[in-house]
Amino acid sequence: MVQHEGMSLTSQGRPTSQRRSISQEPWRSEPVVRRLPRPRASRLRVGDLTAVLSFVAAVTLGLWWQHGGLSLLLEGGVGTLSGIGQLSGLVAALAALGGLVLTSRPRWLERRYGQDGLLAAHRWFGIVTVVTVLLHAVTDTWAWGAATGGTIITGLTDLLANQAWMVAATVATALMVVLGLSSWRRLRQRIPYETWYFVHLTGYLAVLLGFGHQLTLGADFATDTLAFWWWTALFVVTAILILQARLGDLLRSLSRRFYVVAVSREADGIGSLHVSGPGLRRLRVAGGQFFNVRAATKDLWWQAHPFSVSAAPTTAGLRFTIKELGEDSANVLDLEPGTRLVLEGPYGVFTADRANGAPVVLVAGGVGIAPIRALLEDCRPEQRPVVIVRVRSDRELAHRTELERMVAARGGTLHVLAGPRQWFTRPDPFAPETLRAWIPDLRDRHVFVCGPASLESAVMTGMRKAGVPTGHIHHERFGV
Ligand SMILES: Cc1cc2nc3c(=O)[nH]c(=O)nc-3n(C[C@H](O)[C@H](O)[C@H](O)COP(=O)(O)OP(=O)(O)OC[C@H]3O[C@@H](n4cnc5c(N)ncnc54)[C@H](O)[C@@H]3O)c2cc1C
Repeated sequence: MVQHEGMSLTSQGRPTSQRRSISQEPWRSEPVVRRLPRPRASRLRVGDLTAVLSFVAAVTLGLWWQHGGLSLLLEGGVGTLSGIGQLSGLVAALAALGGLVLTSRPRWLERRYGQDGLLAAHRWFGIVTVVTVLLHAVTDTWAWGAATGGTIITGLTDLLANQAWMVAATVATALMVVLGLSSWRRLRQRIPYETWYFVHLTGYLAVLLGFGHQLTLGADFATDTLAFWWWTALFVVTAILILQARLGDLLRSLSRRFYVVAVSREADGIGSLHVSGPGLRRLRVAGGQFFNVRAATKDLWWQAHPFSVSAAPTTAGLRFTIKELGEDSANVLDLEPGTRLVLEGPYGVFTADRANGAPVVLVAGGVGIAPIRALLEDCRPEQRPVVIVRVRSDRELAHRTELERMVAARGGTLHVLAGPRQWFTRPDPFAPETLRAWIPDLRDRHVFVCGPASLESAVMTGMRKAGVPTGHIHHERFGV
């Protein structure tokens, strides 16, 4: 037997004591279990990105200025309306293109900022797009109507009836507004994830529909060949970046073969999916990263769910620890051994190397234990990990024995806070004074937190107030 922190493995790398498992396959005849290599560090520098974005903004605004946009803006009356319309239109288009690139998660960006970071930036790009699209639509239509002695309504009627691509542009505006509303947190929480996702895909259509009227009506592009090609090139480059990112991920994931090896029960409502296959040979992955997991079955092939690896990835396989939150996560834990899986990823930067070898505090809430458990395995004894796990009851704590063993092996400490929320209001375990008393060298540590949003924000606020620098606090969000 090879004992591999937490997963009990036979010499063939097959997990033991699982609920269901399959007979031995050739790819699991690896005699020695080795750690899979970690992803290469990103070489992207913030300065490179800033330089590219500044260049795009400077050329676009330069062309606008050269075409008299600034004079129009300062002219007053209809001229000012037109100037605002032009400027907001340009900003809206640039923000929409940037937002699409961010959400397609190109590897060179994802490795640097992680999905969390890209989604947060995408959200801001989305807000700017919706606000400026609306501003553009209102001011330009108003100016169009006023220029012919009419109102905003006559302006709209005239544009729709007589100008090419204006119907498409109006549909694009409506789609942008629907997208913006569907991402508004209060509405988002009421919409099933899959509905929200497919609505969000129409963002690509909205950008395409808006493109035509920019070239036919846009003051900057209709008459200037250089401006025309600059603008077209921006759209083409964006399309290439998106296709490269999405198709690249898809082809890579389809070309790697993975199978369910076994499913095990870990705690109330929580189970583990053990995965192996020849695809492991080409994988670089660190503890704390996640994959979009898709089961190649008749009913489930169309949906992928993000799950973090919950043990250090080895040549023996990967393990995902999954909470049965909704129907789909429960279905994943019902998969039969031998089922083909398509794993897209790995993604994420919630990895131990972000601490640069400094001591760490690892905080997990509920199934947030999955990436925290894998991260702990990547910590060295010098990092003296303090692990805090918050669960509603002991029965919901997965991998307890593994945690105890790993913490002890690294000279760290494990605190389990089990019980209903009201037990932990006084004293609040994440109040700055409690944290400082608990962990005297807190300010020198890096903090990793993963759990429900309310727990994450309580921990992050408490840690900041207790003196942990913001750059030393890392978190993984289990939602969008
Ligand atoms: C980066 C990341 C890592 C994660 N790691 C784990 C893990 O290791 N273990 C675990 O149990 N859970 C993990 N999750 C959460 C897990 O993906 C969701 O619990 C699961 O997708 C719920 O699906 P459901 O249909 O069963 O539940 P539902 O009730 O349909 O969904 C519940 C919530 O889960 C989120 N969700 C659902 N589907 C997706 C999706 N395809 N992509 C993104 N979010 C989705 C939505 O916010 C939704 O509101 C992770 C999530 C993210 C974003």
